[in-house]
Amino acid sequence: ATPLAIASGIQSAAKRGIVVAAEAIFEDAPEVDVVVLDKTGTLTTGTMTVTDVYADATEGSDGPDETTLLERAGAVEALSEHPIAAAITEAAFGDSNEDGDGGDDHPDDENGEPTLPAGVSADDFERDRRGVSGVVDGDRVVVGHPDYLRESDLEIPDSLESRIADARTAGDVPVAVGWNGRARGAIVVGDSPREELERAVETLSSGREVVVLTGDEGAAADRFRAVEGVSEVFAGVPPEGKAETVRRLRARGTVAMVGDGSNDAPALAAADVGIAMGSGTKLATDAADAVIVGDDLEAVPETFDLAAGTHRRIR
Ligand code: ADP
Ligand code: MG
Repeated sequence: ATPLAIASGIQSAAKRGIVVAAEAIFEDAPEVDVVVLDKTGTLTTGTMTVTDVYADATEGSDGPDETTLLERAGAVEALSEHPIAAAITEAAFGDSNEDGDGGDDHPDDENGEPTLPAGVSADDFERDRRGVSGVVDGDRVVVGHPDYLRESDLEIPDSLESRIADARTAGDVPVAVGWNGRARGAIVVGDSPREELERAVETLSSGREVVVLTGDEGAAADRFRAVEGVSEVFAGVPPEGKAETVRRLRARGTVAMVGDGSNDAPALAAADVGIAMGSGTKLATDAADAVIVGDDLEAVPETFDLAAGTHRRIR
């Protein structure tokens, strides 16, 4: 055994913002045939912003206005750590629930816990992989993927469906908001592809198949089909289906999954090699073999190079 080669591999990785969580990565990464890249937070910056708010008034004047819709959604999202939640709380209250900088009307308290708006209790909060819900002023408010609202028995009016379709066509992500039997509107969020995306994918695709995995549909997913080096895009994959997709791809060879440490943890664990983009969320070292702390997608191909170099010196 050559513990020295491993120690020096771990050290050079650390210098590049790559934290090695499992030494097996030096052996497994050089064998990888398929690299699966999650979209949100991996191919994109993960910093989402609200681009549009639409309050539906199908049944006359009983609908909420845009501000009420946004504040009700924000009250529930205050307890979620998803990038979409940060965008919605920021738009609703002017403070992301993640940065905890305080100093405005929606600060985090001294323990870093978000302060909930009046009329909301953390006890009523429910979290799903496709959205969240909580009680706001007596109504159970559901915020998430339109399918999540349907599954929660909230009807989506046709007028809202067409807004949802428009947002997808524009490459944005529509988040439905509803209570009391039906969806009341939608909040449209978007984020941008990373500027180093093309270079990183090009390097990764030499000698490996690169596929993209996302829960989103429409142009938000399709724009990645045009990226040089991407051979396939799996769109509309529900979060609980990501690990299953990774397992199926293992029929093609050794699979590496690159995703965010919290939402994609099961998919990272299902892959032969799991690499977590560590920005924003807590380090997910249980599920990942390596964590990219520098928030740079080019560190992913570097992880493969470094593992190959280290592996040659181990043998
Ligand atoms: P991606 O596949 O792009 O990484 P995720 O798997 O993290 O996205 O989430 C998939 C979808 O689930 C999102 O596009 C959104 O519709 C919904 N979703 C998940 N969490 C939330 C949340 N906290 N608030 C609103 N929508 C959510
Ligand atoms: Mg994700």
